This record gives sequence, structure tokens and C-alpha cells, in this order.
Amino acid sequence: MNTPAYIGRFAPTPSGFLHFGSLVAALASYLDARAVGGRWLLRMEDLDPPREMPGAQAAILKALENYGFEWDGEVVYQSLRHHAYAQVIDRLFQQGLAYACTCSRKQLEPYNGIYPGLCRNLGHGQEDAAIRIRVPELNYAFVDRVQGRFEQHLGRDSGDFVIRRRDGLYAYQLAVVLDDAWQGVTHIVRGADLLDSTPRHLYLQELLGLPQPKYLHVPLITQPDGHKLGKSYRSPPLEADQAAPLLVRALRALGQPVPLELRGAMPGEVLAWGIAHWNAELIPRALSLPEAQLPA
Ligand code: GLU
Ligand code: ZN
Repeated sequence: MNTPAYIGRFAPTPSGFLHFGSLVAALASYLDARAVGGRWLLRMEDLDPPREMPGAQAAILKALENYGFEWDGEVVYQSLRHHAYAQVIDRLFQQGLAYACTCSRKQLEPYNGIYPGLCRNLGHGQEDAAIRIRVPELNYAFVDRVQGRFEQHLGRDSGDFVIRRRDGLYAYQLAVVLDDAWQGVTHIVRGADLLDSTPRHLYLQELLGLPQPKYLHVPLITQPDGHKLGKSYRSPPLEADQAAPLLVRALRALGQPVPLELRGAMPGEVLAWGIAHWNAELIPRALSLPEAQLPA
């Protein structure tokens, strides 16, 4: 079997509705795939039921449909992939590459999110503990297709990171790497808020012998106060009757010179224009774009 040259994906978290920022990320990943005849997969990142918003999963799928997106194959749900995550964690634990951590949030407060390795050599059992992966004192670097070269020293900038939380929930950092590899994803296009997670992903790929996809991080759309849309700030859901104008606006945010007349077209026509004219080199090289400064 020959491997397809391009497999992309969109991987929303159902903690809220899709908003304009998620539309920009979805659109970029979709067009980047379709412009080269690639596949585009959809994965629901439903790893954290307590933070899930009831109805969000259905609303996300509905919004994507209303906006004319067509994904290949069945939607993958991370909630159905726990066995795969557990197997890898057990293996890493047996090999001594991961260890159990019983530190409380309070204990870690002074360290600013960089784990200082307190439990590294204490040999705790897995029960009632978070599982952390040991990171090497090394730089991990890659060249992002839009943002350019990015590097991080894992020891200094991240520290040993959690792959399973103390409450038993699996961490995004592990699940995303395992699932992208399992789904054969070759190209990852997503929001720039994940740029600084990527070196951890590169390390996990190396450790687990998984292929390294190509990365493209699109600017994050932010509120006037600099906050990311969605998440803490509850942005309004994408209105079905605004599909074409918002797709046009998202294309413009991505630097694509779409004719404004297409605001009155069907969503499918806007997407077709986007596929025919997609040029990733026009995407602004910025980590964030304030929504208020975008052209209408
Ligand atoms: N689920 C993540 C989010 O909604 C995106 C993960 C990814 O694209 O790697 O922010
Ligand atoms: Zn600890």
C-alpha cells in the first residue's frame, strides 16, 4: 500500500462552540489539505469530560457541515482511544522513561509551570499519582512553515511533563502525538497557541519511534484584551447564516485575497475559491491577530 502524500486533520476540543478563531484554524488545515488533493480528517479531542460543554460535540459537527467542510472517513473520538494511551504509558513506566508524581498543585506553585523533578527518583507507584515523562536536557527545534524556526530546551522550558493526570485523565500532549501517528497525519495545521507544545511532541515522536509531521501554526485570533477567543471568554457560536461572510473574513485573516463578492455566495463556493487559490506563504507570520483589526 502506498502512503498518501498528504493527510491533514482538524482536532477540536468540545469545551465550547467553534468560534471565529477555530474557524480560521479549521479553514487553514482544510485548504492546505484539499489544495494538494490530500485527505482531511476530523478528531474530537474529548479527553476531559469535566471541562466538556454539553452539546458542544454535536454543535461542532453541525457548524462544520453548515460551513461546507467535508471530512474523510469517520470522526475519531479520543474518549474511545484510552486503551492505546494506557498501553504506551505502561510501557514508558516499565522502561523508567516515565514516573509517578504525587506533588500537589500547591507544592508546584513556586516553579511557574516548569516541573523541578521532585519525584523523579522516588519510585512512587502509579496509583493516585500523575504520570510524568522524563525530558532530556536538550534543545528540540523545527522549522514551522509560517512561523519559521522554533526551538525549546525541554529541561529548562518545560521540565518533565504530565502524560496522565492524577485524576486518571490522559494529557493532550500524549494523545495528540499518538493519534496523529495512528491516523497517519503528515501535515499539522493548527493555532499558534500550540507552537510551544510542539517541541514536547517532537520529543515524544522521537522516543516512540513515530514519524514527524510537518507543522504550520496559524496566528491565534485574539480579543481586544489579548485573550484567545473561546476558552475562558465565551465567544458566540458560528452562526449558520453567516457562513459565507465569515469564511471570507477567515480567508482574509489568512492573507488570501478573496473577492469580497463571495460573501454573498454559498459556503461551498467560498471553499472552492480557497482550494483553487490557496497560498500558505501569504499567511501572516504572527503568533496572534486581534480580531478587531481584521478587515471586515
Ligand atoms: N484540541 C486542540 C484545540 O482545540 C487542538 C489540538 C491540535 O490541533 O493539535 O485547541
Ligand atoms: Zn512530583
